[in-house]
Amino acid sequence: MAPAADMGGDTARRPPRRLIGPLALVVFAAVALSVVVGVVLARQSDLRHQHQQRMSLIGVLDEFRAVLAEFAVRHAKDIAQNYGNTLDARLADRLTPVGTGRYRYDAAYVVGADGRLIAAYPRDAVELPTGIHPLIESVSRSKPVDAASATSARTDFIVIDDRIAVATAAALGSTSGATLVTVATLDPRLADVLERTSGVEALRFDTGPAHGGRDVLSLMNGQGRIVGWMAWPTQSPTVTAATRMAPLLVVVGLCFAGFVALAIRQIRRSSRDLADREAEAIRTAGEDSLTGLPNRRRVLEELDNALAMRSRDGVVAFAFLDLDGFKDVNESLGHQAGDQLLVFVAERLAVATRGAGFLGRLGSDEFALVVRADDALAAVQTAHDAIAAMTHPFWIGGQALQIGLTVGFAHAPRDGASRDDLTRRADLALRVAKRQSRGRATGFEPTMEAELHDRHFVNRELRRTLAEGGLDVHYQPIVAADGQRIVGVEALLRWKHPTRGDIPPATFVPIAEQAGLMPKLGEFVLERALTDALRWKDTFIAVNLSPVQMRDRQIADQVAAIIRDTGIDPARVVLEITEGVLIDNPDDAHRRLEQLRALGVRIALDDFGSGYSSLSYLRRFPIDKLKIDKEFVSSLGRSGNGGVIIQAIIALGRALGLSVLCEGIETEEQRILLRLAGCDEMQGFLFARPGPARIIDRLLNIPDEPRRRRIGIDG
Ligand code: C2E
Ligand code: MG
Ligand code: MG
Repeated sequence: MAPAADMGGDTARRPPRRLIGPLALVVFAAVALSVVVGVVLARQSDLRHQHQQRMSLIGVLDEFRAVLAEFAVRHAKDIAQNYGNTLDARLADRLTPVGTGRYRYDAAYVVGADGRLIAAYPRDAVELPTGIHPLIESVSRSKPVDAASATSARTDFIVIDDRIAVATAAALGSTSGATLVTVATLDPRLADVLERTSGVEALRFDTGPAHGGRDVLSLMNGQGRIVGWMAWPTQSPTVTAATRMAPLLVVVGLCFAGFVALAIRQIRRSSRDLADREAEAIRTAGEDSLTGLPNRRRVLEELDNALAMRSRDGVVAFAFLDLDGFKDVNESLGHQAGDQLLVFVAERLAVATRGAGFLGRLGSDEFALVVRADDALAAVQTAHDAIAAMTHPFWIGGQALQIGLTVGFAHAPRDGASRDDLTRRADLALRVAKRQSRGRATGFEPTMEAELHDRHFVNRELRRTLAEGGLDVHYQPIVAADGQRIVGVEALLRWKHPTRGDIPPATFVPIAEQAGLMPKLGEFVLERALTDALRWKDTFIAVNLSPVQMRDRQIADQVAAIIRDTGIDPARVVLEITEGVLIDNPDDAHRRLEQLRALGVRIALDDFGSGYSSLSYLRRFPIDKLKIDKEFVSSLGRSGNGGVIIQAIIALGRALGLSVLCEGIETEEQRILLRLAGCDEMQGFLFARPGPARIIDRLLNIPDEPRRRRIGIDG
């Protein structure tokens, strides 16, 4: 038997990968995209920055060259004005650098038109640095013809002693054709200036190419040849900023990772909770909340499954298990005790049927069992085991409670192949069992369906007949033990149906009880019988009261009213009740009997010996007469000890002060035996069959009728 809760549990509990996978992917993609975009933006920003640095360096360098050129022009003009064409070594005095330190040159030369060195600073310089001639030539080609217009100057990069310098040449504006040349080395001082204006650091002027990790800007001379490089370490502001911000970024990253981990954990937990709740909901949807057994839905599902999977030779049985007398427990001990009892019953049934069947609770005191078996016998055995589990009493609130179980079952393939067929037929079997054989397992029989139809028919027709006054009452004489006198008559209901013929009271009385027709039916019999009995002086009139009538609180009032209306002497009225009434609800029965006896009527216990035959009732309840059942009487001749038992009962009844009546006497032998045993009154076909009132009229009004003892009345 698979527990209902197992369904779908595993998959429901698994971590929600479907949710976490995409989420992780999205987070990863977002982070990756941010990094790529960041790197691209940083790269662009760095390139822009580098470009700006270069432009700024070029700008500063150009300005440096322009200022040097301007100084050289001004200097050249000055020399031209003061010396005119008399250029000689004395000029060296005018070549000493003056002015702003930043633009001060390191060396200066006055070169004649013939390329001869006229004067130099420092004075000891004897020849021009190499590489300067092209510059001088380009200046002299463009030099003006008069001194006043000596304004042009040219600059170029040259290398002196492995150092880069800016050479400036300006024409001396005279007819001499001389040129002033200044040389300013690109030294650390200038580098410092360049660094400050461009923002680069560690700037160096190199004549050889720079090594890796450094940015360079080539310096080209007038001939288009690279004479050197400005080099500085490659700067990446974003990398620098990122490096500076690294701890902060790490903290932010950790926080983000923590947040993501926390979110995933939370999602996992929520998903797990959701899955747990879903599994719980699935489980409880198929579970009975009181007993924890599978509920109606699950049981029926199991039945469907079992039927669908039944092999050709296999049997699937469905049984209704109904507690006997549960309603009384509920009413007398309260619903809490009732619930407790149901829990205990469920536990016992579960143990008794474990491994053999699928047990569930349908509701109230009704359980159900689905059994898959190789043959019907095995299925029936499981039902018997369930019933046997109820044999011991249950202890509830310090009280021992004995409760029975009645089972009705049907099985496939014999009784049907569908859920509807099996449940309907098992229900029918249960209803029959409840009426006829409580505490037992009863299988469905095809005749039950016919009976059911019959019951419907009887129910319908009885209502109609009752309304139309179509019922009749017959009477069966009761004679004194000597068989000489009719001492009373018993009223017995008769129903002659136009198409069905005679329908016996044993058939329709129980149906009338269930259909709620008994109060009307009982009233009819009482009225008719007491009215008819008015004519039959010196005889008592016995009327049967059904258990349903005895449970009616109005019964004493009803009887009292009819006695009053008919005017009959209540001492002549005997009311026949059966043992069942006393067993079902002893206190109520006792009270009712007292009320009835208070009216002056007598009470007879009918059919004694057919049921429990508890002798204790005879003492406990206010009973006047004991009617020993015809079953007991008929067994007289058959079983050896039948006579002894009946003798004992009669003796006991008499000892208790009861009058004893034996019914169903059919033979003379029985009459003699029972008379010897001490029976007071007798009733049976031997004396008379039940007949209409006019027969009793005749019997009682013919005082000299011979052989009255054997009045062969044919009802
Ligand atoms: P009961 O009260 O025990 O009635 C006696 C039954 O035994 C009657 O059956 C009667 O015909 C039958 N009987 C009498 N003598 C003999 C005999 O020598 N041999 C055999 N085999 N049977 C004999 P009946 O009329 O079919 O009634 C059956 C039962 O129906 C009654 O049993 C009684 O319990 C119930 N019943 C009949 N009329 C009424 C009624 O008006 N109200 C109620 N509540 N129940 C009634
Ligand atoms: Mg009777
Ligand atoms: Mg009887």
